[in-house]
Amino acid sequence: MNVTTPQIDTVPGRYWHHLEDGRIQCDVCPRFCKLNDGQRGLCFVREREGDQMVLTTWGRSSGFCIDPVEKKPLNHFLPGTPILSFGTAGCNLTCKFCQNYEISKAREMDKLGSLATPEMIAQTAKAYGCSAVAFTYNDPVIFLEYAVDVAQACREAGIRTVAVTAGYIGDKAREEFFRHMDAANVDLKGFTEDFYHKLCSAHLADVLETLKYLKHETGVWFELTNLVIPGENDGDAEFDEMTQWVHDELGPDVPMHFSAFHPDWKMMDHPRTPPATLIRARDIAMKNGIRYAYVGNVHDKAGSSTFCHNCGHILIGRDWYQLSDWNLDAQGACTKCGTHCAGVFQRHPGTWGPKRQPVRLMVPKTMP
Ligand code: SF4
Repeated sequence: MNVTTPQIDTVPGRYWHHLEDGRIQCDVCPRFCKLNDGQRGLCFVREREGDQMVLTTWGRSSGFCIDPVEKKPLNHFLPGTPILSFGTAGCNLTCKFCQNYEISKAREMDKLGSLATPEMIAQTAKAYGCSAVAFTYNDPVIFLEYAVDVAQACREAGIRTVAVTAGYIGDKAREEFFRHMDAANVDLKGFTEDFYHKLCSAHLADVLETLKYLKHETGVWFELTNLVIPGENDGDAEFDEMTQWVHDELGPDVPMHFSAFHPDWKMMDHPRTPPATLIRARDIAMKNGIRYAYVGNVHDKAGSSTFCHNCGHILIGRDWYQLSDWNLDAQGACTKCGTHCAGVFQRHPGTWGPKRQPVRLMVPKTMP
């Protein structure tokens, strides 16, 4: 898209309070940054301005692209449909393996494009026949106020919204944020506090709280992604513990994606994930009762397709982002044995395919 030097708008931020020592504490995420006037939090996009917190990236995007919904990844949410995707700048985690670091580590706001209002985003999604808008490329938790405004405009236009997030969010902010989302893909980056501490400077326990909240307190459809990094989170015991926890705490129907890592950002010294490792993780998940476990970022039709957990019939054939077989009936049940498949399905799959299409936003006629 055409990158211009934007005028940065700020909007009042929510979820913060004054401390006795005169600082302000941001409560949007469990990092709880404590700020003096003029300071920004670790995410870089939330700032103390005088006596309040502001968000500095409202209405500013790093670019828009129409992706297959499978790229989020979501395999059980409107399969085959196009989804208008965008991010802003900054992040509240510091993952050394970040696969989107040019956006998440951005400190120069001129990397962001010109004004993108919620109405422009919703209308563009509708005009291109997108099923949903995805907040992705960087974590939408840090631009909560903007994401909520966009989600409201989308709902008014009949467009759904998807959050791609690490789930690192405070209690109160979590309630508002997910109230406006229809679906989410949450990264479960590892299953030890040591992994989260060493590689993301965050805490596993807070992410698990978000997952339990999503399952038990909301109707948001969500799936999990575990980026498997050789030598860091690829042991059998960790896969076993993680998938057992998901099964016991979230149930058997939350899909899990085991995705291949490629060397990036500060972890160029680690090799790509061997496909056999992903297959091993998937096998362990299924042995522990996870009904829908997938490999990701590799070509593997058997590992990417959806099978009936009752009779084993292929329900949705998939190779990376390309769909093939479709054996779900109008109720989202297996055409062979009638067992329901968990998810959000239309009568027929979308036909978007694997392509990505960068787009410019449409300016509503009512705007100058
Ligand atoms: S959202 Fe940003 S400013 Fe707020 S606590 Fe998290 S990292 Fe700090």
